Amino acid sequence: MNKTDSAKHQGQRRQLVKLLEEKGIQNKEVLTAVGTVPRHWFMDTGLEAYSYVDKAYPIAADQTISQPYTVAFQTQLLELQKGDKVLEIGTGSGYQTAVLLALEGLKVYTVERQQQLFKKTALLFKKLGLQPKKVIFGDGYQGLPDQAPFDAIIVTAGATEVPKALLEQLTIGGRLVIPVGEKDQIMTRYIRTGEKSFDRKTFGNFRFVPLLKYKN
Ligand code: SAH
Repeated sequence: MNKTDSAKHQGQRRQLVKLLEEKGIQNKEVLTAVGTVPRHWFMDTGLEAYSYVDKAYPIAADQTISQPYTVAFQTQLLELQKGDKVLEIGTGSGYQTAVLLALEGLKVYTVERQQQLFKKTALLFKKLGLQPKKVIFGDGYQGLPDQAPFDAIIVTAGATEVPKALLEQLTIGGRLVIPVGEKDQIMTRYIRTGEKSFDRKTFGNFRFVPLLKYKN
């Protein structure tokens, strides 16, 4: 695999970052991270030309690579600090994971339930030298109990309800950013304020592929 990052792509990425700023993304580290990650490395073959268009695109297994604005918006809501342990539910193309890794100093865990995508993306991370702490094939609905607690959890698929396990796996002060709803989702952030208490805030409408629940 030949992953290059041409001057043309870099220029398109600068334009994308400008656009995200115009759309209201303010966090400088997040903007820098989006400006650093070659999104075209994570797009499906044949769609590379659209890499720096601010839209979601199809990837394998009927899933999507998230829209850059959504990636930046969710990442900003996580309010990450150096050293934070972060769990991503829905590895997908690996683009959001790469943006988290570009923030540097984070311990990133990522879970994907589609085996085909899991295999493809885990291999891509290896080839690119990207090193999440763990890339896991499994059901993110359960979180990752053996690695909990997390300072931040990001769900990159639409949930009809908030999985309890995810709230339980937050540190005190930890943030869960999750789109909640059926057809459209409301971006929701929970901050754990105590053993049993959470602050909940909503941040407008988005549209995601569904967060799937394992059927027993
Ligand atoms: N972060 C990804 C977004 C991919 S779309 C990116 O930037 O490309 C959402 C992903 O969530 C899909 O790959 C889907 O297979 C995965 N997913 C859905 N339900 C899941 C679950 N219960 N556990 C883990 N992953 C899940």
